[in-house]
Amino acid sequence: MAKYRCPCCRKISPNTLDLARHFIGQTNSVHKNWLKAKGLSYAQLIRWQVTEFGNKGYDALAEALDKEAAKVE
Ligand SMILES: [Zn+2]
Repeated sequence: MAKYRCPCCRKISPNTLDLARHFIGQTNSVHKNWLKAKGLSYAQLIRWQVTEFGNKGYDALAEALDKEAAKVE
């Protein structure tokens, strides 16, 4: 099954939800700027995670990563 590579570093994840968790754990500007370029806000994603039921922040990010992250075998 294909794996996904973080568009900002060399991290490889088995799925985009795991990659989203990795992404939220990064506070450096490379990851934050990528989010901004995709029309997402780091602060907004964190707020969703904290205030919304379920995994709204991770889910929104995973959806973006589904389209954008390079797949590797
Ligand atoms: Zn990364």
